[in-house]
Amino acid sequence: MSYKKSVYIKAKEILAQRKAAAEREAEMRHSAAVVLCPEILNIEREMASHGADVVKAVGMGADVTEYIRNLSEANLKAQAKRKELLKSVGFPEDYLDVKYTCEMCKDTGYNNEFYCQCYRKLIRDVARENLGVNSPVKKCTFDSFRVDRYPDVIDGVIGINQREHMKSVYQYCMDYAENFTPDSQGLFMYGKTGLGKTHLSLAIANEVINRGYDVYYGSVQTIMDKLEAEHFGRLPREDSIKDDVLECDLLIIDDLGTEFTTQFTNAELYNIINSRILSSLPTVISTNLSIEEVAERYSQRVASRIIGASMSVYFCGKDIRQME
Ligand SMILES: [Zn+2]
Repeated sequence: MSYKKSVYIKAKEILAQRKAAAEREAEMRHSAAVVLCPEILNIEREMASHGADVVKAVGMGADVTEYIRNLSEANLKAQAKRKELLKSVGFPEDYLDVKYTCEMCKDTGYNNEFYCQCYRKLIRDVARENLGVNSPVKKCTFDSFRVDRYPDVIDGVIGINQREHMKSVYQYCMDYAENFTPDSQGLFMYGKTGLGKTHLSLAIANEVINRGYDVYYGSVQTIMDKLEAEHFGRLPREDSIKDDVLECDLLIIDDLGTEFTTQFTNAELYNIINSRILSSLPTVISTNLSIEEVAERYSQRVASRIIGASMSVYFCGKDIRQME
């Protein structure tokens, strides 16, 4: 697991809130129940005294095993009595139990000193939320990608069947995500607009997050806007993204070529791509530009940096958004 620290902190906060809410609700139910059935308090006093007796017995150094067994039997009896009592006044017998979101770990996040499943899931959810400022990341999965939307015709550029080619692309991206490590190479996804590049790059993000890696996703314009604001001190420090962009396990830059080009954006883009290559960290780039257009727009140097460090993945077909 290599999520950012803030992800763990946020997940822990949510767990603590769940736990506190569950306990608060149990307390409120308790207050209501004792009004109708004050005898509950007597039973609870009895239960509390059992606990105190155990402590005393241990202190006396007596043969406590037998003693403790008797007490815990008495305790079970008291609990059963309390349940009966609750039932007799019309409450469900578990009315006073704390109803945790996760019964396995009682909302502590730990189960026998291991991370509980609920905590792992929460961490992934938080990481995913951090990802998608406005991106429909949850919807864009491999399962929701439909290869049959691509035309069953020969593609003019690559000379092979478009649907068959996109099947391979789909399979390639799925394998990429399933086998992802921060040592993986980058991907350069290119092809016309509306051919599913964003969908597959988000599906990769989803899967890679599920596998415990730290992913940063953004359209090139959003990333550049934030970096520029940060550079000129207009971004609060806690919103700083520079380290995320440079150091995350997987960076996904969507829609390369749609940004408003300035000297700043060109320099930053080169810096990001180059720094990540030097640290051997992969970047997935998607663009509507062809390889030649990337070279024209950014320089041969940038194009060869990108292409050289990535697997080029060509998207073909008709705009699938218009076919929906
Ligand atoms: Zn749990």
